[in-house]
Amino acid sequence: MKTIIEPFRIKSVEPITMTTPQEREQHLTEAGFNLFLLRARHVLIDLLTDSGTGAMSAEQWAGIMRGDESYAGADSFFRFEKTLRDITGFKNILPTHQGRASERILFQLVGGEGKVVPNNTHFDTTLANIEHSGALAVNLPIPEGMDPKNRHPFKGNMDIQALEALIAEVGADNIPVVMLTITNNSGGGQPVSLENIRAVRAVCQKHGLPFYLDACRFAENAWFIKMREEGQRDRPVREIVREIFDLSDGATISAKKDGMVNMGGVLLMRDDNLFQEATNLLILTEGYITYGGLAGRDLEAMAQGFEEILREDYLQYRIRSTAYLGERLLDMGVQIIEPPGGHAIYVDAAAFCPHIPAEQFPGQAVVCGLYREGGIRACEIGSVMFGQHETPSMELVRLAIPRRVYTQSHIDYVLEVFEALFARSDSLRGMRIIKEPPALRHFTARFAEI
Ligand SMILES: *Cc1c(COP(=O)(O)O)cnc(C)c1O
Repeated sequence: MKTIIEPFRIKSVEPITMTTPQEREQHLTEAGFNLFLLRARHVLIDLLTDSGTGAMSAEQWAGIMRGDESYAGADSFFRFEKTLRDITGFKNILPTHQGRASERILFQLVGGEGKVVPNNTHFDTTLANIEHSGALAVNLPIPEGMDPKNRHPFKGNMDIQALEALIAEVGADNIPVVMLTITNNSGGGQPVSLENIRAVRAVCQKHGLPFYLDACRFAENAWFIKMREEGQRDRPVREIVREIFDLSDGATISAKKDGMVNMGGVLLMRDDNLFQEATNLLILTEGYITYGGLAGRDLEAMAQGFEEILREDYLQYRIRSTAYLGERLLDMGVQIIEPPGGHAIYVDAAAFCPHIPAEQFPGQAVVCGLYREGGIRACEIGSVMFGQHETPSMELVRLAIPRRVYTQSHIDYVLEVFEALFARSDSLRGMRIIKEPPALRHFTARFAEI
C-alpha cells in the first residue's frame, strides 16, 4: 500500500471550534499580537509546540490509574527507572518535572562564570539556563544547517572543526560539557547522524570532556538515522537509540516530546559523584528522588510513552506526516527549511514576506497572519525568540506537530490557510515590541503593528 496511515484509531475526542475573523481580530489585539498570550480555546489548529501537547494512549491512561502515589519507593518509579535503563543503558536516572528542570540542575552544577558550553544549536531554555549560571553558550552547527535550501540529510550535525577550534581557543578546562541536541530543534528539527555523534564523542574523549545529549527527540533522530544513514537500514530503532546513549556521558530529556506525556523530564548521568550532587539538588528544589516533582501516575505514563515511541510503525507515520506538510508547502512555493524535519516544519519567514526587515520581525507577522486567516497558532523562531541574545541567521515560523493529535484533513486545512495567506503576503505588516521582559521575551512580550 502507498498510503502510510495513522497507526492508531481514536477512542476519545475533544471538540475544536472555529472563530469568526472579527473575533480573531479582537483576540489578537487583546493578546498584544503574541500568540502565547491567546486563550487556547480561541485556536482552531494549535501548532505552537509539540511539547506536552500529544495524545496519550489507552495504555498510558491505564498507567495513570495504576500510579503508585507513595512518597518514597513507589512502584511507578521503579517501572520508570527500569524502562529508561533498558532503553538508554544508564544506571543513574532522575525524574524531573520537565526538560528545563534537568538543564537547571546540570548547569547549576557544571556551569558558572568563565565556562563555555558548545552545542550544535542550543534550545532556548538550555541557552537561558547556561547564561543564568554565568556561562557562555556557543552554537556550532555545520554550515549546511544554516542554508534553508540545502538538502543535506543530517543538517543537525555539529561542525567538528569548529568544536576543535573552540576547544583550542577557550581551553578544555573551561568547557564543562559538550552538548548535542537531537534532533536539532532550533536548527530546524533536523537530525544528527550517528557518524557525527561518534565524531563529537571522539573529540570529547581526546580532550577528556564529558559529552551530554539534549535527547528530547532521540527516537525521531534514530528513525532518520535508520532511513538516511548508510548501513543503518536493517537495524532496529531500539538498537540505534541504545548506541546513541552508549556514546554519551549524560542527557537532559524533556519527556513532553518523545516521552509522549503532557509533563515530565529525565536527567541521566554516567558520573556517580556528579549524580550524587544532582540528587541532592533534586531533593532541594524538585522533590524526592523517586518522584522528582511529578505524581506517581506521571511516571507510569512516561514509562509507557518511552516504550511506545520506539514502535517503528509510529515513527514511520510520524516522520512521513510531517514531510507531507512540508512537501505540499514547497509545492505551493512557500520556502521551508529543507528537507522537512521530524517534529515540525520551519517556514522561512524572511522569504515569505521579503518586504519586512528582520528588525520588524517577519516571523511574528506570519504567525499573526496565520491566526487571522484561519485560527492557526504557530511559533516565531527568529529575532523575537533570540534577538535579545544574538542576531539569528534565519527568521523562521515553526509549525510543530503534536503527536497523535491531528489527522491528515487538519493538515490539508492548514495548507489551504497557507495558500490564502501566501497569495496576500505583501499585505503583511511588520511589528515592533512595546513591552518585554529581560529574558525569554517571546513568551510574554507585547507587540504593535507598524
Ligand atoms: C522542549 C525542549 C527543551 C526543554 O524542555 P521543557 O520540557 O520544555 O522544559 C530542551 N531542549 C529541547 C531541544 C527541547 O525541544
